[in-house]
Amino acid sequence: MAIEADLLHNWIGGTWQPASSENVQAVENPATGETIAYVPISEKYDVDRAVRAASEAYSEWRSVPVPKRARFMFRYQQLLVENWEELARLITRENGKSYAEAYGEVQRGIECVEFASGAPTHMMGSVLPDIASGLESAMYRYPLGVVAGITPFNFPMMVPCWMFPLALVCGNTFVLKPSERTPLLACRLAELLQQAGVPDGVFNIVHGGADAVNALLENAGVKAVSFVGSQPVAEYVYRTAAAHGKRVQALGGAKNHSIVLPDADMELAIKEITNAAFGSAGERCMACSVVIAVGDSADALVERLTSTAKRLSVGNGADPSTFLGPVIRDSHKQRTVDYIAEGKLEGAELLLDGRDHPAARSEGHFLGPTIFDHVKPGQKIGNEELFAPVLSVVRANDLNEAIGIANRSEFANGACLYTNSAKAIREFRETIDAGMIGINVGVPAPMAFFPFSGYKKSFYGDLHANGKDGIEFYTRKKMIVARY
Ligand code: NAD
Repeated sequence: MAIEADLLHNWIGGTWQPASSENVQAVENPATGETIAYVPISEKYDVDRAVRAASEAYSEWRSVPVPKRARFMFRYQQLLVENWEELARLITRENGKSYAEAYGEVQRGIECVEFASGAPTHMMGSVLPDIASGLESAMYRYPLGVVAGITPFNFPMMVPCWMFPLALVCGNTFVLKPSERTPLLACRLAELLQQAGVPDGVFNIVHGGADAVNALLENAGVKAVSFVGSQPVAEYVYRTAAAHGKRVQALGGAKNHSIVLPDADMELAIKEITNAAFGSAGERCMACSVVIAVGDSADALVERLTSTAKRLSVGNGADPSTFLGPVIRDSHKQRTVDYIAEGKLEGAELLLDGRDHPAARSEGHFLGPTIFDHVKPGQKIGNEELFAPVLSVVRANDLNEAIGIANRSEFANGACLYTNSAKAIREFRETIDAGMIGINVGVPAPMAFFPFSGYKKSFYGDLHANGKDGIEFYTRKKMIVARY
């Protein structure tokens, strides 16, 4: 079992190994504030052990034929499907998001495993039989070695699944450093991977925080690092891993804009924006955190968004009637409360104040939905990533002005447009500076076979997570020129 007297261990070489440090941190159920486990804050010694185990496993794993590696993923997919409800309940318990959201997250993880199961196609090289008379040239694809994944609290299943299934089928071995705030789900992912028959040492977990991350970034045995988390840490990981000669992809924070034109289907726009702004308590890198209301329908839009948000059920995500669960920790709630106070001081119009919601007075880390209107350029609530159920509304006269506002953001993960005008859609698609865009869709997160494609401060690196980019990231190519 992963949990012994509630203290988690590291997963190294196929067994649970106590961490060397006595330093532990409580893992909370954010809906109740109760401690559900303790996570060890591992040190360099633990990381080095995990990397050693992964290095030892690599010499055999890299030689396992690709179709056989894919077959492990077929078995893994089956096990994840069989354990779907349990995994979803665990996500709700450690992260707080509603069971429906958690169930959807498990699906997103499974889709990554399904994409990875196509490994024989993904791993194919290419050949040109006659680059010159009697000369052939070909490209072969090989794994890198030990690769590491460092993941955030908000998608304990989906984000690790962006990384290790693809890395493994490409022939790499893996060390995962999950978020210390949501480490439980990763433990089940490891156990099920072993049940699927993946050899010991191919997948390892080291729990902890910055020290474990630094040890991974500095370890010469780690050839590549995939990171997903907040912007400052993404930038730091990118610079540090690159300075240590590693391949790196680092996905950072976001501030996503949704532009609503007067001709939009308002019913649809309100439904999608409400889900995108307040679903998962706003703790999504693809959350809608700014609405740009264009033209003379803005007042009606804001009024309807506010009345819809007022009716959302706030509570424990395990309760099937809950739409909006808690934020991750009390410190995150306090940070959000401070932002709301500052937004008011900055002069934005506070239409709905989540601090006043009855749930905000209970044991869990709850905040009701919050809406600010008439947010102006330069105001913090409209520019910085709050990662909370707070929506800023900015007014614009036309599409051009709205795109300009969105494009001035330092982030560029997602952006959405609500309209029925093909001309406006084309204009938006061609000029918006964001990596993932939605047309009449609130959360345009790409599926596993496409890259997860942020720009600017939302992404550091070249090759994005998932899809063909993922295959490129986790493989290196060898070229041959041959005369027979
Ligand atoms: P975080 O940056 O606090 O933590 C992410 C990981 O980095 C964790 O494993 C953590 O232990 C580690 N870490 C934290 N501080 C560190 C430090 N100083 N040095 C080294 N490692 C450190 O992020 P979070 O709060 O867990 O996750 C939320 C953030 O992740 C949001 O900003 C969100 O936008 C972002 N996110 C981005 C994407 C994307 O695709 N761009 C997806 C999901 C989440």
